[in-house]
Amino acid sequence: GRCKEMIQETATASAGLRTIVHFIDGQDTAPQSDNYFDSVDPSNGAVYARVASGNANDVGAAVASAKAASASWAAMRPLDRGVIIQKIGAALLEHIVALAEIETREMGMPSQASPGIIAASAEYFTYYGGLAPSVHGDTIPVDESTLAYTLYEPYGVVGIITPWNAPLNQAARSVAPALAAGNTVVVKPSEYTSRATVELARIAHEAGLPAGVLNVVTGTGPDVGEPLVRHPDIEKIAFTGSVRTGARIGAIAGERIVPVTLELGGKSPDIVFADAKLDVAVRQVLFGFIANSGQICTSGTRVIVERSILARFSEMLADAARSIPIGVDKPFPCLGPIANRMQYEKVLGYMDSARREGARLITGGGPARGVGLDGGFYVEPTIYTDVRPDMKIVREEVFGPVGVLIPFDTEEEAISIANDTDYGLAAGIWSQDASRVHRVAAQLQAGTVYINAWHAQTVEVPMGGYKRSGVGRERGIGAIKAYMQTKNITQKL
Ligand code: NAD
Repeated sequence: GRCKEMIQETATASAGLRTIVHFIDGQDTAPQSDNYFDSVDPSNGAVYARVASGNANDVGAAVASAKAASASWAAMRPLDRGVIIQKIGAALLEHIVALAEIETREMGMPSQASPGIIAASAEYFTYYGGLAPSVHGDTIPVDESTLAYTLYEPYGVVGIITPWNAPLNQAARSVAPALAAGNTVVVKPSEYTSRATVELARIAHEAGLPAGVLNVVTGTGPDVGEPLVRHPDIEKIAFTGSVRTGARIGAIAGERIVPVTLELGGKSPDIVFADAKLDVAVRQVLFGFIANSGQICTSGTRVIVERSILARFSEMLADAARSIPIGVDKPFPCLGPIANRMQYEKVLGYMDSARREGARLITGGGPARGVGLDGGFYVEPTIYTDVRPDMKIVREEVFGPVGVLIPFDTEEEAISIANDTDYGLAAGIWSQDASRVHRVAAQLQAGTVYINAWHAQTVEVPMGGYKRSGVGRERGIGAIKAYMQTKNITQKL
């Protein structure tokens, strides 16, 4: 798996490649071990950069720097802190072309889509920078001889661990509220996509963020992520990634008694009623499970369709899927590669399992081939039907452009199929019936419900998981308080 791939990639490392190192205490910092691994461009399989392979010593240096910077950052007037954080957002926009190119080369995000994702990443800093001066406690009425009030205080040093599927955006989503709350931060990005986060820290520092307030240590989960989570000076952890790793990090946080936000996976249902506007629904339902090549935690991968329109819907969806251009630099909407070889093999493995378990393939079903795709980790947009609820393709998160079609006859049945999952990140409803959409939305077990939309979330609204999709919420006003402690002060008058 992953280790073998990395060793092979390291063996092919050559001099002259771009080298990505940690960003600690306001400076590019070489790994103490002097070890590096190679990062691969998924659109062609070529080695793209050498990345510092960090270890517990590098984590120690980064946490020490964050801890030293903590008191003055926390003591800064929130308005002034917010102004600096908003400058980070503006600086990201100034570097939008270069950052978009990094996202495209590093994880295969289509080149016409990546600028929009960088702009969305900048919005986290604009929003939380603006919110920083408006977080305040309450005075609480008890009785006439008591004065009781609350203060919100930062935790200190926050550890943030992110996945590879939209690296800058994932980092920004947690870093911006953590900083706005007055914490200093150490981020460990995915070993598959290290560069965007290192650039974020460098750009933030150039924009005026003091040294040590935002540090990045690159490397693997076991070598860097786990020492970060176990470090005694880390007072709060925010993790985005798989359920398996989230469970492990949650267990360590439990032993240490530190709070943890977990943003995990999904197998989100998208219910299409017969009265939906079909042409819009078809395009958006497809977008819901193929956007970013399906590598979005909120992908709508279980498409639950009213039986009376199943045949027509299925035909329209398959036609739309076949018409999507494949290639990272094609006109958008197009399909880029899967972000790394490990994930590419995993997606193909799910296609094998669907075949073995007897699902009926409607379109796609394998690697995508064609001019300009050689060496890249491309797969076809893929749709299955005639599935059973116990099939892996119905139950497990594929994290590729793969959807299943499931028919229903009644509203109750649609809701029960939608909720038949261990996950609960997102859900969708397509219908023109204004009563039904809200009646159904209230019964869906998901942190986000889209009505006649998909992937429509922005920084202002909370997101997070029901059930095994996670703990806590990111985005929105509430997220800033997840990076703060509540102190009550009570006085007898
Ligand atoms: P992953 O769990 O394999 O890795 C995530 C991060 O954890 C990486 O940085 C990795 O190096 C690190 N890690 C691995 N083992 C660790 C350990 N023992 N201790 C500490 N850190 C460790 O996930 P991935 O494959 O990078 O990402 C895909 C998953 O992320 C999918 O399940 C997807 O649904 C989920 N995801 C969730 C959201 C969300 O907001 N809910 C967003 C994007 C992705």
